[in-house]
Amino acid sequence: MRYLILSDIHANLEALEAVLAHAAGRYDKILCCGDVVGYGADPNPVIEWTRANSASTVRGNHDKACAGIDDIEWFNPAAKASAMWTREILTEPNRDYLRMLPKGPMRVEDFDILHGSPVDEDEYLIETWEVAQIAEYVEPEVSFFGHTHLQGGFMVLRGRVRAIAKPQAIDECETMSLEPDWRYLINPGSVGQPRDGDPRAGYAVYIPEQKVVSYYRIPYHIERAQSKIRQAGLPESLATRLAFGH
Ligand code: ZN
Repeated sequence: MRYLILSDIHANLEALEAVLAHAAGRYDKILCCGDVVGYGADPNPVIEWTRANSASTVRGNHDKACAGIDDIEWFNPAAKASAMWTREILTEPNRDYLRMLPKGPMRVEDFDILHGSPVDEDEYLIETWEVAQIAEYVEPEVSFFGHTHLQGGFMVLRGRVRAIAKPQAIDECETMSLEPDWRYLINPGSVGQPRDGDPRAGYAVYIPEQKVVSYYRIPYHIERAQSKIRQAGLPESLATRLAFGH
């Protein structure tokens, strides 16, 4: 089985469509690590696509906020404005779908998908010391996570934590064979709002039988996604940041 791993699509239909076109033929099943919506201007079409096509999806903090099941007081002003706008525009069935999304970690075969960290769906894993604090809770050999919008991740062995070299400036694809004994926390990158300085949409493909993860970065129609954000009256910063990948 070949899995297409998506995370942090953030209602960016242009990025999602580009990823799907590029990944066609490379996968059998789709999994999603959360934040289907928030920030972007196409929450309904992106949720409808996810409902129809993702085999398993865990919820992200923006999914909770946009479904109205989480407080948005701690959100920054742009995130808050987009959550409020998304709440207004969501159809009833799509809001219900967001509300019902399960909390990670969720087991798929012998690996997990989750949003933030294995112990807290809202926690950011950015630095190796942050991963060291939760290393003992990293149970399966492989977990996929999102939330930080930083493609790459970490490998853990008996308390030691190593950052997986960020495949920044990769041409298009970087393939990694998993080493025995290590446990892996893998971030496929953000489809709809990358924050690692590379504006291209990120995704990953995992083939458990071969213990191989491939990271991808691909260009998409950023200007179209930006103009939809502007037309929707969402904060300008949500449009401009897409061009810079932060
Ligand atoms: Zn996110």
